This record gives sequence, C-alpha cells and structure tokens, in this order.
Amino acid sequence: MVLKAIIFDVDGTLAETEETHREAFNATFKEFGLPWVWSQALYAELLKTTGGKERMTTYLRDHLNQPADQEKIAEIHMRKTAVYGELIANGAAALRPGIADLLRDAARKGIRLAVATTTNRPNVDRLTEACFGKAAGDVFEVIAAGDEVNKKKPASDVFDLAVSGLGLDPSECVGLEDSRNGLQSCTDAGVRCVVSPGVYTLGSDFSEAAAVIDCFSEIDTVKKLTNLLGD
Ligand SMILES: [Mg+2]
Repeated sequence: MVLKAIIFDVDGTLAETEETHREAFNATFKEFGLPWVWSQALYAELLKTTGGKERMTTYLRDHLNQPADQEKIAEIHMRKTAVYGELIANGAAALRPGIADLLRDAARKGIRLAVATTTNRPNVDRLTEACFGKAAGDVFEVIAAGDEVNKKKPASDVFDLAVSGLGLDPSECVGLEDSRNGLQSCTDAGVRCVVSPGVYTLGSDFSEAAAVIDCFSEIDTVKKLTNLLGD
C-alpha cells in the first residue's frame, strides 16, 4: 500500500511534553490552594488515564477516595491549560529528534500530515506556535483533538476522526505514537503504528506495533519510514 499520510500523536511524540503537563498541573493545584502534588512516579501511573479532567477524576477517586466535583475539575483544568500554554510559549518543550526533518521531508514529498491527540486544541496550538512559529492548522492538514471526540485513547475515536478527515483508507496512513494507549487507539482504527517510547512509556507492551524504534531520527525521511514499514 502506498503511504499517503502520517498521523502524529502530540504529547510524548511530537515533543516530550508530559513533564511540562505535570509541572502545569502542580502549579495550578498550588494556585487553587490544593495540597495535591503529583510526583513523577505518581504521574507515570496517572498517565494511564488519558485526558486531563479524567486524570484528575481518577486521582481523586483512586488516591484520595474523594468524589470529583466535575464543575471544579473543569475550572482547575481550564486554568491548567493556560499555565501549560505559558510554559510551552516560554520554551519548556522541544520537538523530539527526527520529527522536524520528517515533517519537512513529508511535506516536500506530498505526504499529508495529520494529528490524532487526546490533548485539547489550545495545547496543540501553543506547542506548534513555540516549535514551528505557526498555528497547528498551518502545519497539519487535519487535527483530531481530544475535545472533539466522545472517547479518548485507547478508544480509536481520534484516529478514526483523523482518517475520515483525510478522506483516506486507514491502510494508506501510518500513525506515530509513544504510548500503549496511543498504539491501541491507532491500531484499532486500522492504522499501522510506529512507536518510539518516551520517558514515561518505556517498558510498556508494544506488541501490536508495526515497528518499535528508539528514536524518531531513525525515520527522519519518508523513505526510511516506508522502508521500515516494508511498503
Ligand atoms: Mg503520547
């Protein structure tokens, strides 16, 4: 099958943003006068729940035995998104190695570019503005974000949305991911997946992946990517 599009996950794939998210959560909790502090070890556990509001709800239920007031959760999360945006704008995250080269080569070769992420749209925009100096819509033709679907990863919804937005068959696309939830979402949408684990996802089960690589610099051109896929 001829490859026509690459669909990128955002957090952990385009950039190692998870530490910045953790920092933004902790700063926001402090602002709200909450005694919650998420350590790296705790955050690694909480990352199994995708979506910030859902993650806070899981934390309250499983770690504090408290019911979650969804209105308050939404208020905290809105502020956290703003704090995260400020951190990213100040250069807190850089693209992972190989990503910029692959995007450039793909654009030159007429390979279409899309995003399938469980993070919300403002987070995607802040990241592309900081890393490319452009809004996400000027870098990616189709953006399927977490706030546009009913079910977040590992459900296939965001990948389904990206594929239908491109108007392609799933077999004509490849997804790039860093996590088990992302891999499941991608493969359940019928899209082949190349995984490069990040700091929080190393050691997960990636057995359904078309390939697992140490670094995206191994696929910094379309040719290397299609060779890896055996296309
Ligand atoms: Mg990810």
